[in-house]
Amino acid sequence: SKTLRLILGDQLNSKHSWFTEIDPNVTYLMMEMRQETDYVTHHIQKVVGFFLAMRTFAKELKSSGHQVIYYQLDNSENKQNLKDQLSYLIQKENFTQFEYLLPDEYRLDQMLQEICDKLFISSRAIDTEHFLTDRNFLQDFFKGKKNYLMETFYREMRKKYDILMDGKEPMTGQWNYDQDNRQALKDKKLLRKAKIHPKDATEIAEMLKNSGVKTIGTLDTENFPWPISRAESLEILDYFCDHLLPNFGTYQDALTTWDPYLFHSRLSFSLNTKLISPLEVVQKVEAYWKAHQDQISIAQVEGFIRQIIGWREYMRGIYWAKMPDFAQLNFFDHERKLPDWFWTGKTKMNCLSQSIGQSIDHAYAHHIQRLMVTGNFALLAGINPDEVDQWYLGIYIDAIEWVEITNTRGMSQFADGGIVGTKPYVSSANYIKKQGNYCDHCAYDHKEKLGAKACPFNSLYWHFYARNREKLEKNPRIGMMYRTWDKMGNKQEILDQAESYLDRLDEL
Ligand code: FAD
Ligand code: SF4
Repeated sequence: SKTLRLILGDQLNSKHSWFTEIDPNVTYLMMEMRQETDYVTHHIQKVVGFFLAMRTFAKELKSSGHQVIYYQLDNSENKQNLKDQLSYLIQKENFTQFEYLLPDEYRLDQMLQEICDKLFISSRAIDTEHFLTDRNFLQDFFKGKKNYLMETFYREMRKKYDILMDGKEPMTGQWNYDQDNRQALKDKKLLRKAKIHPKDATEIAEMLKNSGVKTIGTLDTENFPWPISRAESLEILDYFCDHLLPNFGTYQDALTTWDPYLFHSRLSFSLNTKLISPLEVVQKVEAYWKAHQDQISIAQVEGFIRQIIGWREYMRGIYWAKMPDFAQLNFFDHERKLPDWFWTGKTKMNCLSQSIGQSIDHAYAHHIQRLMVTGNFALLAGINPDEVDQWYLGIYIDAIEWVEITNTRGMSQFADGGIVGTKPYVSSANYIKKQGNYCDHCAYDHKEKLGAKACPFNSLYWHFYARNREKLEKNPRIGMMYRTWDKMGNKQEILDQAESYLDRLDEL
């Protein structure tokens, strides 16, 4: 028999059981495809990152003795899509068996099932051996329940994998330290430079240009900054433990003009391409903390671990429980177009110009920039969630639909009507001011709701609640907002101010 095994660009798990033995009857297939560069307009660093990581992975497989067929994007035999490439190759090389790893995207899952249905040879799909839960775990775990509570799931993961546990109880007696983790950064000296592995990306950048692949964002071709191998990813993880973990939780939600990464790990690309596994990351961080308990508080560590075994795994469960319908949800019937400055960062609103600007420059923004700056604004302004999704799916180095759409359409835009979150994440300028220094350098006044210099967030915030009253008033976590609103004296002026901003979003 002769087996062909497909490895997709986000399946670079060298620890997978596929690779434990060298089998001369097995050939691995990897390919750069227009199908993948073109399904959305990606950030140039994202395309380069994927291709560099894939090429490195293929090289490593070959040097450990495996047979690999690798199609670069500019190879003349590259059919640029899975279906044609697979049927071409299977016939040409007389493969008798086709195997693939379960994709994380619904789109690719469907595509591969359809391809296999039509193949004349036998085929099978197997697990990627990356996640802590399988696709349907969340759905089964919450069977019969109306809401899928993240916290309940997270505690189950803590127990199941014995992470930060003291027998059956959480270590130190408390499950969640979110309350302690909300500070603004006041002292610049605490910051540490991100660990960068600069590498030359000229060849891939040229190839993309010559092939006419459309991208967004910028790239310093000689200094591509993201980890592209398992070894580099492990170095980033070590660096995180040594230098960033001690302050991670405390400043997790901070907003600042001083640094694009703060104390965040920059591990999302490595995790999402499976160069490293979620379990090894959290086990390493837990062990590091145990050895340095005198220097690092549990709040830092718990905050980090919750993101990975809680949120990340939970979002994946939501995705498989709710797709494909999830991608169509638009609870508020929002239809506005995304303002043009989302693609340039050129807005007078400093928080948005900073968060978008660094996304364009680094293909990165941390969670609170995504949720409480760009996402918050898009929701307040009533932007169509399809447009919001396209933006988030393209711009970030770590954007893959299963984790992008659940965060964007679900958590950030509440377009799912409350599957992921119990209430919409919206705020006025007050929150952004509290979390850092954006408002200190802004053309708008964060204290004002009315007048030419009034921060747009302030009137749009009330406009959002007023226009969605019917849909939100009954939510027990929101009812109080309406009592405050009803008591406010200048309601019509606030709504008029918001309308005037909505009429000229592109000029803000
Ligand atoms: P850290 O802050 O160091 O966190 C560690 C790890 O925890 C991350 O690498 C990530 O794997 C995981 N994590 C943290 N928060 C989440 C979350 N909410 N959901 C899932 N995993 C999480 N993350 C993506 O990986 N891909 C996306 O496309 C994506 N889109 C997002 C869109 C919006 C609107 C929002 C609000 C969040 C999105 N996130 C996404 C989640 C989160 O913002 C990023 O995972 C994080 O900013 C990546 O940076 P980091 O590795 O430095 O994270
Ligand atoms: Fe953003 Fe308003 Fe603050 Fe300006 S004043 S930075 S627009 S929140």
